[in-house]
Formats: sequence, structure tokens, C-alpha cells
Amino acid sequence: MAINEIFEAYCQSKTNLIAVDPDDLSHNRVLEWLVPRFDAHVAMLAKTHHKMPPVVFGFVASDLLGAKVDMFEGSAIIAVNASVPTMIANMLTSVRSQIGAFPSLTQPIVVLSGNGLWTTEADVLTYLFNGGQLYTHQDVAPDDVLVLALSLCSFVFFHEFIHIRNGHFALHNTTFKKLAMEEINPGTSVDLTVLDRQTMEWDADKVAYIVSTDLALTTLLGQPYPERSPRDVFLAFREYHIGLYLLFRLMQRAESKTKNVREHPAPEGRMSLILEASQSMADLLKVGALPAGFAVDVMRTGEVAWAAITGQVVAGITYQADLIGSQIDHLGDVLQNWNQLRERLAPHNLGELPLARPFPPDPAAQLSDNDA
Ligand SMILES: [Zn+2]
Repeated sequence: MAINEIFEAYCQSKTNLIAVDPDDLSHNRVLEWLVPRFDAHVAMLAKTHHKMPPVVFGFVASDLLGAKVDMFEGSAIIAVNASVPTMIANMLTSVRSQIGAFPSLTQPIVVLSGNGLWTTEADVLTYLFNGGQLYTHQDVAPDDVLVLALSLCSFVFFHEFIHIRNGHFALHNTTFKKLAMEEINPGTSVDLTVLDRQTMEWDADKVAYIVSTDLALTTLLGQPYPERSPRDVFLAFREYHIGLYLLFRLMQRAESKTKNVREHPAPEGRMSLILEASQSMADLLKVGALPAGFAVDVMRTGEVAWAAITGQVVAGITYQADLIGSQIDHLGDVLQNWNQLRERLAPHNLGELPLARPFPPDPAAQLSDNDA
């Protein structure tokens, strides 16, 4: 399997992009597994999206966390920095080397292992990139890391896909004609404000969550999730949500390195939006009633995990509550902004359905062509 020709030509047309050959990925198992997985996503999406141009994805060599979308010779390009899967996997190996599985609220005291893999907040990005190599640790089963890393990378993939499908890229392109839409360092202007950007991120997260969650459960459990016990499915559901929180935390860290103005809502804000929909999602996937305090549990556990990676003291439990509270006003602004942004995006919508609705009852509806 060589580099996709269109993807290679796209990278060659840019001065700063180097396509990574899938044949050279064997040194990194997560990247290797992602190639057929993303191929399957592309094939699935092509079946249900008749207005979308062909989707071409590829990895680009970079030590910076990020992804971008673009159009090139009639194809929709999704370029993911090869650092993304590597850093996600190393983040998960670090967590598991210290606190094993994600602890629950019934075991609030976490004893960090002196033998675990950890770093400092200042060095965390370099540490997690690790020159593109995966960490291993005697106490961590590589497959446990792999399945969650793949699931989180699929979330990133669908998030990028939605930037194209829901017209975000096209609107971006009306202002920034020759520039790809960057995940970490996107442009803003009077026509496309920081709030507009955050609103598009919220939209991409929302749909990626709807599309990715059942797939994540099946990946985490190693078999179709309906065949597993409700308890197992719940634990996988919880694990995926904590993983998403960590992913947002990592992206926030990468973003703060590149600029002062944040385009993504804070991780607590992004996660609040997802957690708001988590009970609906749990109903849909027959996970059942989530326990009281599920949202705080997810964010708290995510913070413990991040603290373990960066060698910090974990803030008190009220810290999460305060963080969530601080996001509420801002989320109101985002939701309000969606009303006008949705009208500007509508002419560019490449999906089969009108742009969104609060929380569609059926994930299949997000991908279906039933109004064709
Ligand atoms: Zn995005």
C-alpha cells in the first residue's frame, strides 16, 4: 500500500507537508492499525453521502498535534498529523502505567506508581510524542491502549469529516482561499470570529460523538457490543468518555503552545456538551441509566489521569464543578451563535439532512440517505 496519489500530489502542492507512506508505519502499531480503520470509515461514509466529494485521508509527518481539512482537485482531503495517534497512545500508556484502569469515584484515593511513565506539564507534548515511537511498560497491556487510541482517533477522523460535510470548510474557504482549515491553529477574521470557530468545533464534536460511540464500544470490547453484558458495555462507555476528556485536554495543551486565543472551547466545555447528550446516547445504545454523578466522575477521572501524566497534585473535587460552572455562560453564547451560523453554513451543507437539530434520536439518521 503506497501513499494515495491524490494525497501525495496534495502534499507536494504545499511547501510544508510531507506525506507519510503507510508502508513505513510498521514501527508504530497504532498508525498501522489506523490505515485500514480509516479506509473503512471512508467506505462507510461514501455509501451514505452522495453530495460529498470523494474523501481522501492520509498522515503527514509532524511532531505537532493536529489535523487539517482541505479540497484538492475535487477531493476532500483529511490530513492527520502522524503525531496524533502516537501522542494519544503514549498518553494512555502513561496513565495506565500509573493508575491502571481509570479509577472510579468509589476508589477516590489514587496512589501513583513511582515506576510509571510520567513527565511535567512543561514537557508533556515532547514527552508524549517521543520521537514518534510508542512507549511500552511492563504493567500495561498494549492492546488495552490500542483499542482506546483507535477509538479516539476515529473521533478525530469523524470530527474532521464533519468540518467538510457541514460546510465549515467551505465557509472558511470564502475568507481564507488558499489555506487548509487547521485544527489547532485556524484563522479568524471579522467574517469568521473566534465564536464562529468555537461554534463549528461544537458542531463537529456533537456529530462525531453521535457517529463514533457505538463503534468505540465495539472496538473497546473486541466484539459487537450488544453481545456483551450490560456491565461490560457500561464500563466501555465510561472509558470512552474519559478518553474523550483526555483527548480534549491534550488538544488544549497543544493549542496553548501555538497561540493565545483559543478556538476550541475548554475541555470542560467540550465535554459538558457531550455529557449533556450522554444519557440519550446511553438509551440509544441500550447502555441503560447512567449512575448519578456520571458527568463529574468522567471529568474528575480525566483530571486525575492528566495529573498522573504531568506529575501534578490533583485539584479538589470542587475544582471540576467550578470549571463546569465557568463554561455555562460561554456555552450559551455558542448555542445562540449556532442559529445564525447555521444559516450561513446551510448553502454549503454536503450532508443528506438539513443542519442540525439538537440531538437526533438515531445515529443512523446522521449517515442515512433516506431523504434521497
Ligand atoms: Zn475541529
